[in-house]
Amino acid sequence: MELHTPTSRRVLVARPRGYCAGVDRAVVAVEKALEQYGAPIYVRKQIVHNTHVVKTLEAKGAIFVEETEEVPEGEIVVFSAHGVSPAVHAEAEQRALRTIDATCPLVTKVHNEAKRFAGQDYDILLIGHEGHEEVEGTSGEAPDHIKLVDGLDAVDQVEVRDPGKLVWLSQTTLSVDETNETVARLKQRFPALIDPPSDDICYATQNRQVAVKEIAAESELVIVVGSDNSSNSKRLVEVAKEHGAAAAYLVDNATFIHDEWLDGVTTVGVTSGASVPEELVEEVLARLASHGFDDVTEVESVQEKVRFALPHELRKDLRVS
Ligand code: SF4
Repeated sequence: MELHTPTSRRVLVARPRGYCAGVDRAVVAVEKALEQYGAPIYVRKQIVHNTHVVKTLEAKGAIFVEETEEVPEGEIVVFSAHGVSPAVHAEAEQRALRTIDATCPLVTKVHNEAKRFAGQDYDILLIGHEGHEEVEGTSGEAPDHIKLVDGLDAVDQVEVRDPGKLVWLSQTTLSVDETNETVARLKQRFPALIDPPSDDICYATQNRQVAVKEIAAESELVIVVGSDNSSNSKRLVEVAKEHGAAAAYLVDNATFIHDEWLDGVTTVGVTSGASVPEELVEEVLARLASHGFDDVTEVESVQEKVRFALPHELRKDLRVS
């Protein structure tokens, strides 16, 4: 097939994109643990949802497991940025594992809200995706009080004990617009439903959605770099399509780009999920440049300055060494 190649081709790169403070902290925690204690370091679940990050850490000596029971007794295990339920902490303690908890502080904040409202005997409607690790971890804080609401269609099915004593919380990586719709529908059904004390959808998820909206309106095609188990990356594809991009695709890396996507396209938008290292975006830009997309503009919508300190279990040992 002969491809139509326009003469002027440009790329709009969203900013902010890529690593958020919680992902950076979790990845650095595993790297520092490897340096400090030596390989192997066990990690329960993918430390962050990105294939490249996991492979890179594996090459340095990290061993990824699904459950703590796979970790030999007495060894070090890192809990991922998505958080774990209290049952996982208890199991690790039983097996005498040394734990480093890399749960993002913004996920911990949601856990604390869940504990507080459950302590006051509220039913908690947790908006999130069934089976996602973060949802499992948060639900485990108060399994008798939390009811999962997985999208708009679940609103009519959810059952509560007392419609007058209800609060909603959410996963940190959802679509802001879709969550607002779900909450509005929940409030039609449960007018006394109360809001969380502050946003559960984290700053990084929100900012990346704002940034992709800006480039989507001017792009025929938006490429989102991210793995397909990354919730926030998948939401960026949806948001791009809803805000003007004729097409939007999620790619793990540059090799996943199909040449025919670029046929007849003059402007490509590029962004990346919160668990994606910048080198993967650079490879995508190089691939696009090889197709004549060499006019690259970064479109900054929000400035980000958030940083988190490393997990305290690690900081303590790094200080004394
Ligand atoms: S996406 Fe948000 S909640 Fe998740 S690790 Fe990053 S900052 Fe934390």
